[in-house]
Amino acid sequence: MGFRERVPLAPKTTIGLGGPARYYASAASEAELRDALSTARTQDLPVQILGGGSNTVFPDAGYPGLVLRVALRGVAFERDAGGVLATAKAGEDWDAFVVHCLQDGLQGVECLSGIPGSVGATPIQNVGAYGQEVSQTIVRVRAIDRTTLEDVVFEGAQCGFAYRESRFKGEDAGRFVITEVTYRLQPGGRPTLQYPELAREAQARGVAQAPPGEALQRTREAVLALRRSKSMVYDPDDPNAHSVGSFFLNPVLDEAGYRTLRERLRLRFPEDPPKPPSFAAVGGRKVPAAWLIERAGFHRGLRRGGVGISQNHTLALVNVGGTTAQLLSLADEIVQGVEHAFGVHLQPEPVIVRA
Ligand SMILES: Cc1cc2nc3c(=O)[nH]c(=O)nc-3n(C[C@H](O)[C@H](O)[C@H](O)COP(=O)(O)OP(=O)(O)OC[C@H]3O[C@@H](n4cnc5c(N)ncnc54)[C@H](O)[C@@H]3O)c2cc1C
Repeated sequence: MGFRERVPLAPKTTIGLGGPARYYASAASEAELRDALSTARTQDLPVQILGGGSNTVFPDAGYPGLVLRVALRGVAFERDAGGVLATAKAGEDWDAFVVHCLQDGLQGVECLSGIPGSVGATPIQNVGAYGQEVSQTIVRVRAIDRTTLEDVVFEGAQCGFAYRESRFKGEDAGRFVITEVTYRLQPGGRPTLQYPELAREAQARGVAQAPPGEALQRTREAVLALRRSKSMVYDPDDPNAHSVGSFFLNPVLDEAGYRTLRERLRLRFPEDPPKPPSFAAVGGRKVPAAWLIERAGFHRGLRRGGVGISQNHTLALVNVGGTTAQLLSLADEIVQGVEHAFGVHLQPEPVIVRA
């Protein structure tokens, strides 16, 4: 399998940043994936796996090894006792897969409409939005182990899923190339409307009164409307969408961390200290990162050189003609600012590739 040389990486990502890849290849089959991986190993090249490039930030200097795009295609549906098993190859476009499932009246991924990227990346950070996460429906992940080039299969329970987390991002980061994911979906199921903002939007669209298939479609429209209002649907013509989505995870604070936050808020806003919104989470309370960033003095539309904060979403850092160095410097300024103000350390959500 041939590698192309000096391929610009910025156009292969939604945030549009990064220099060239020394080598680049796109693998449309498992045989091509294995071939590329073993050639890279023979030549002692580091390998960076790429899907749709919507959660990846490449360095300005580019990537010194092989960037390997997973382009395996194909979708299959099979009935089982618990519903319908929908299996998609890793290179399928995620949102096109969601559309396909909804057209077939299958419930389980409707709230994940409009998320950019590939099927194969969804288990990596347990993609989620508006009250749904792929961990709720994934039953099987098929992958190639990069250390042996053998085929491996993980049941959903073996994937180590947590909030924006999995074994593929944690202890096994970089070890597996995901080739196929199977989701169990519910024919005729009613949409998940747990998230208050979505529930309101769905109510306005008459989702509760609609028959199941129509209710799923209307829920998708409601999700897309909410996402568009925040520039959270990728649109190359929308300067606020040149992002990786949310740049920071929502921090989970234990009781001591939460108390510190309340104390710092009292010091910072002695007249009328605001009460932080929080949600029960494993290990404590999840506090919205956007809320903290705003209270620490960073506002939507802020610019630092060619990067900034989206005008429509505090958590989205955008590229408006800047560099990765500028982006990481702004991210660091925000992390320091929030830490200084509230004693809370924010973690980045995207994959920041090191040169
Ligand atoms: C406008 C916008 C909105 C977004 N909204 C959301 C949201 O609501 N919720 C959410 O969770 N995310 C969101 N994201 C982030 C992003 O869309 C998801 O993380 C998505 O799953 C990334 O898919 P990708 O194929 O583009 O991944 P890439 O950016 O190509 O890769 C991301 C990581 O996954 C690895 N990877 C990709 N494919 C494979 C594979 N087949 N095998 C092994 N490793 C692989 C890469 O090596 C990299 O480490 C948003 C992004 C944007 C730009």
